Amino acid sequence: MSNTDELQKLFEEISADETLPLREANLVFGEGSPKAELLFVGEAPGAKEDELVRPFVGRSGQLLRSLIRAEGWKEEEVYITNIVKRRPPENRDPLPEEIEAYKPYLTRQIRALNPKVIVTLGRFSMNYFLPEAKISRDHGKVIKFGERILLPVYHPAAALRSTSMRAELEKDFKKIRALLKNFDELMKSSSAHVS
Ligand code: URA
Repeated sequence: MSNTDELQKLFEEISADETLPLREANLVFGEGSPKAELLFVGEAPGAKEDELVRPFVGRSGQLLRSLIRAEGWKEEEVYITNIVKRRPPENRDPLPEEIEAYKPYLTRQIRALNPKVIVTLGRFSMNYFLPEAKISRDHGKVIKFGERILLPVYHPAAALRSTSMRAELEKDFKKIRALLKNFDELMKSSSAHVS
């Protein structure tokens, strides 16, 4: 099955899954190239995302998308999604049980997309892959994760609130292109820490 067909099948399954929490909100599945080498994973949709049924289209999304473009990609060349695919009410943090419920779908979405590099946006997304990691300590570290490379970065919403976090986010983003360029060598080396 092609990546596109697998993603379509997954979309249909999530839509039909009545056991999932937050079903009163719209399903914001994700968008971008089904063949993207670069995947961005956020936390959960906010109000604007729920309204437009697209990920990262509010203020933090504008920042994310401008950073992606500044590093030379078109938004439609990469893929953008969230762990939790429906908006928690009042923009509260997703609950552990909401994350758990949506996790298997993110796992399958990653398998269908098969990206080389996954940039996790904020601590919830980072902790999905690396439960023990701390965002203040571990953002910007290049981590081998099975057959992929992970780069945890601050959430763009945090970068909108803090100039120092914004500077860190911009610095971490500058590593991404080299990760794709040197992907094969990085995967061969015993450690993928190039920071
Ligand atoms: N924050 C997220 O984590 N995801 C979105 O889609 C929008 C804001």
